[in-house]
Amino acid sequence: MAKTVLITGCSSGIGRATARAFREEEWTVYATARDTADVQDLADIGCETAALDVTDATQVEGVVDRIVEEQGRIDCLVNNAGYGQFGPVEDVPTDVLHRQFDVNLYGPHRLIRAVLPHMRERESGRIVNVSSVAGRVSTPGMGVYCASKFSLEALTDALRNEVEPYDVEAVLVEPGPVETAFADRTDDQFAPLDRSGAYETIYRLYEDSTVFGGQSPVAVTPDQVAEVILEAGLTPDPEPRYPVGAFADLTLKARYLPDRLQDTAYGLLNRLL
Ligand code: NAP
Repeated sequence: MAKTVLITGCSSGIGRATARAFREEEWTVYATARDTADVQDLADIGCETAALDVTDATQVEGVVDRIVEEQGRIDCLVNNAGYGQFGPVEDVPTDVLHRQFDVNLYGPHRLIRAVLPHMRERESGRIVNVSSVAGRVSTPGMGVYCASKFSLEALTDALRNEVEPYDVEAVLVEPGPVETAFADRTDDQFAPLDRSGAYETIYRLYEDSTVFGGQSPVAVTPDQVAEVILEAGLTPDPEPRYPVGAFADLTLKARYLPDRLQDTAYGLLNRLL
């Protein structure tokens, strides 16, 4: 019987590419999205589709129950759905912070809790959490997004050792910038902020810069990330974390620099701007 993967956030970018990659390996793919019309192209190549907003606990349970009923197994969960709430910490209202965590952290947590009883019972399963370099290095203007991804990393590090006795593996994938709609959507995320007027340099950095978006010269493609997610999902003895791309490799090394040195680098950048 074909192996089964459940993927969140398949309407675009990394999720869509990941659904295609697993399908090409002849897995049974449950490609989920908030609006199933957005994953019709994946249905056309043989994926099963389902409506799934990761903030909706009833939908999460319903999709997992459906897969178990139809396939009798969930071999892999890819927690991909997410977005970037950018903005200086002071300017982010608490309800906006809550929403960021609801999608980027509580969403994966809901799915993990729903699939684990089945994986533990079968003594087999893999959970791939799509984090980011922002889950390891926190930068000005990205505190809220970084906090959500740091939390996802912390959750996964604990989980990895908790589920190891049941032959279930929990793995992190950490891309740098990727050529997706992510950065455009991030621009929209400035809208709900309470602009104090104190951090205009930071806003300018994000509004003018091409470093952070999908246009970044260091960005990788969604297919490159999907290949790494596929490897993280398939390989018999997975690594705890998989950085994706040269920028991610470099940035993850930068976190070993003393905090004061990192602060000096940000200060220099600020003055340059
Ligand atoms: P994307 O093209 O914007 O895709 C994000 C996906 O998440 C969309 O399918 C979106 O669905 C979905 N989503 C958002 N809120 C959701 C919710 N409440 N319930 C279910 N789905 C929801 O961006 P992407 O780059 O592929 O991002 C995928 C993951 O990669 C995210 O976790 C992101 O943090 C991470 N990542 C991205 C980058 C990057 O530079 N692009 C770098 C590192 C990590 P809708 O279409 O319905 O909104």
